[in-house]
Amino acid sequence: MGTIAERLKIALKTITKSVCEANRPANSVKLLAVTKTKPVSDIVQAYEAGHRLFGENYVQEGVDKIQQLREFDDIQWHFIGPLQSNKTRLVAENFDWVHSIDRLKIAQRLNDQRSAHKKLNVCIQVNIDNEASKAGVPPEEVNLLAEQISNMPNLTLRGLMTIPRVQQNAEMQRDSLSAMNALFVQLQTKYPQIDTLSMGMSNDMQLAIECGSTMVRIGSAIFGSRQ
Ligand SMILES: *Cc1c(COP(=O)(O)O)cnc(C)c1O
Repeated sequence: MGTIAERLKIALKTITKSVCEANRPANSVKLLAVTKTKPVSDIVQAYEAGHRLFGENYVQEGVDKIQQLREFDDIQWHFIGPLQSNKTRLVAENFDWVHSIDRLKIAQRLNDQRSAHKKLNVCIQVNIDNEASKAGVPPEEVNLLAEQISNMPNLTLRGLMTIPRVQQNAEMQRDSLSAMNALFVQLQTKYPQIDTLSMGMSNDMQLAIECGSTMVRIGSAIFGSRQ
């Protein structure tokens, strides 16, 4: 399996190769290292290998790690998990980004609870395949929520995030990923600050990059499988 530093290097190489094969500009895709359920010592290893972008799924676990790693003050912390309204304050006060905004109420609470000194970067989570089991707004509701968020002074709308259905073949997978990219490109014409399409995980990152992702969220390929 190799060390975390070695696996991180391999993931970065895979991204560079996929970006090149897709004829996209160098450095157009960022790697978010997803450390849910993994110990702080794993984050430190990735940090020492030069990595700075980390993603967490659970509010309390994420906040505990952020507080333990206060001295590493150039880490950018991304919240990527489901968010209940009674947990928004902890997220607003500790994270730099939230990828999983799926309703107006959550955005309003984050805006109210965020300090005006430093805006919170947010993405709207889209349920691109309309799955009953998944969070996210249906594609046809993205524009309205984007307009509402763009009026909130303490939030910066950075883009869209999705967890697509795992399809039987690459063709079908590509349809969902391309539909997300079309939504993203359309939204960028209205909001010039939008630069993030958070899409692709360990098992589909190459396809996601081919379809326009600008940030892949990689956990198990770097830190090993989770229980
Ligand atoms: C766990 C998780 C990931 C990382 O998944 P891997 O398959 O381990 O790469 C990415 N995004 C979200 C929203 C997750 O919950």
